[in-house]
Amino acid sequence: MPLADFPRYPLTFGPSPIHTLPRLTEHLGGAKLWAKREDVNSGLAYGGNKTRKLEYIVPDALAQGADTLVSIGGYQSNHTRQVAAVAAKLGLKAVLVQEKWVDWPDCVNDRVGNIMLSRMMGAEVRLDPAGFDIGIRDSWNQALEDVKARGGKPYGIPAGASEHKFGGLGFANWAYEVEQQEKELGVFFDTIVVCTVTGSTHAGMIAGFAGQERARKVIGIDASATLDKTRAQVARIARHTAELIGLGREITDEEIVVLEGWAGDLYGIPVQSTLDAIRLTGELEGMIIDPVYEGKSMAGLIDLVRNEVIPKDSNVLYAHLGGQPAINAYSALFAN
Ligand SMILES: *Cc1c(COP(=O)(O)O)cnc(C)c1O
Repeated sequence: MPLADFPRYPLTFGPSPIHTLPRLTEHLGGAKLWAKREDVNSGLAYGGNKTRKLEYIVPDALAQGADTLVSIGGYQSNHTRQVAAVAAKLGLKAVLVQEKWVDWPDCVNDRVGNIMLSRMMGAEVRLDPAGFDIGIRDSWNQALEDVKARGGKPYGIPAGASEHKFGGLGFANWAYEVEQQEKELGVFFDTIVVCTVTGSTHAGMIAGFAGQERARKVIGIDASATLDKTRAQVARIARHTAELIGLGREITDEEIVVLEGWAGDLYGIPVQSTLDAIRLTGELEGMIIDPVYEGKSMAGLIDLVRNEVIPKDSNVLYAHLGGQPAINAYSALFAN
């Protein structure tokens, strides 16, 4: 059925802002750069891309009569922080399994930033020593069972809200929103650049844009460092979401573009290109990006524009997906 017919619980301020990046554009000397800002999309605990996804998941949780949202992520998960905020907003409880996805030697990694915000909002935070995996975990099933054993009604939201049946709808809607904003701005973004890890942000965009008249490139920049898994997950969710919203044709393999080269060896560990991208974006635009996600996708964008893989006459829309609270666990990188 059409996307507009799916129930949506508003958690964002409305369409997220789009603006130019004039100094970065001039510095790189190539395509014209713009940003669409999911980092300022909501008043709920700093917002971000997961808040937008949750708009289409919350109605299902409420319809099922859930009283506890259960979710999972790394210690510095932006996703679980946004789940905690949404739970608080709705008057529900939140149980969050926080795994050791990143072996990052910061002594306050499990105390500051996202995890601190989740605790401030009353979530039950469970630290778990398991490593990075975007799939379904035993610890998550255990958390669901524990809520039931206490007499609660849990509602499970998987990592990044990606493996949820409605996980792709939020960013399919983003694609419609972009189309609307383009009319107001008098511009056409032929290229979208987006960070991809659990996949439903990128996948939702692919499904949403696929139904529009003018074709464009949606370039996912891998930040998972488990490329094959992420690419397969993006393809699966894009096709599932396309079917949900009645696209009426198959998403082709050519539409699934996940590029590697900027993730480094491990999820959550920045490399030199990440740090260069963070400093460049900060110094030229006052726009803050994080070392886990956006620093890596921006590093990709910078190279693709510099090398003119993205042609000079392009209008590029960089999806800023949020994630700044995590920078507090990375202070050593900027100590001098
Ligand atoms: C979760 C997240 C991403 C990746 O989005 P997926 O839908 O998991 O691929 C990118 N940037 C930030 C800031 C995030 O929190």
